[in-house]
Amino acid sequence: MGQFAVIGLGRFGSAAALELMKMGHSVLAVDTDGKVVDALADQVTHAVIADVTDRSALEELGLENYDVVLVAIGEGIQASLVCVVHLKSLGIGPIWVKASSHAQHLILNKLGVDRIVHPEEEMGMRVAQTLSYPMVNDYISLGNGEFVVEIGVSERLKGVSLSEVFDGMPETLHVLLVKRKTQVTVHPPDDFALQPNDVLVMLGQLSALKHIAPKLV
Ligand code: ADP
Repeated sequence: MGQFAVIGLGRFGSAAALELMKMGHSVLAVDTDGKVVDALADQVTHAVIADVTDRSALEELGLENYDVVLVAIGEGIQASLVCVVHLKSLGIGPIWVKASSHAQHLILNKLGVDRIVHPEEEMGMRVAQTLSYPMVNDYISLGNGEFVVEIGVSERLKGVSLSEVFDGMPETLHVLLVKRKTQVTVHPPDDFALQPNDVLVMLGQLSALKHIAPKLV
């Protein structure tokens, strides 16, 4: 179980804090606005009203032992940057920051934060990619053109084995698992017979995945 601090509880910060709680972590949620702190207070481990541009207020939060401090002050670029400068000078980290502009990204890079998150752009790319591959339920990009994707199997493949469907596909394309209702088969054998509504989770190069996807749907 990890320990995370989320500073700035707008839509992004609150969602991150609640999701971390759901995953079983301990979360300190901080905002200047008492109303948003109150709204989250009984759903996170600790909720504190503080202005993080005030160095001593930040120091009092005792952020030294946290796994990551996520600065999610959206519109207030100045407050976000001042907070990062204080965190750095207090030797606190790793620091992840939500950025909303290119200028902010440049400065955060110079300040040496550990990760800069652009939720709007990242979400926009995800939506665009999902729109162009509607058969893909979900995916993770691993970089270098490699993806893990989840695709549901069509009715017409009832009883067909994995080896028949994947015949001629590159060796680097792997079926990691098959989900059938609540049952998960990890590393399914070649003779695994598919059923309609099975969901395949595959790992491979985008080019190979593009090739196999139409055969499954
Ligand atoms: P989103 O786009 O994710 O909704 P917002 O910009 O609306 O983000 O929210 C940012 C949050 O950060 C607000 O709840 C605001 O009160 C908080 N915030 C702004 N300045 C500070 C500060 N100096 N210290 C702590 N929290 C702050």
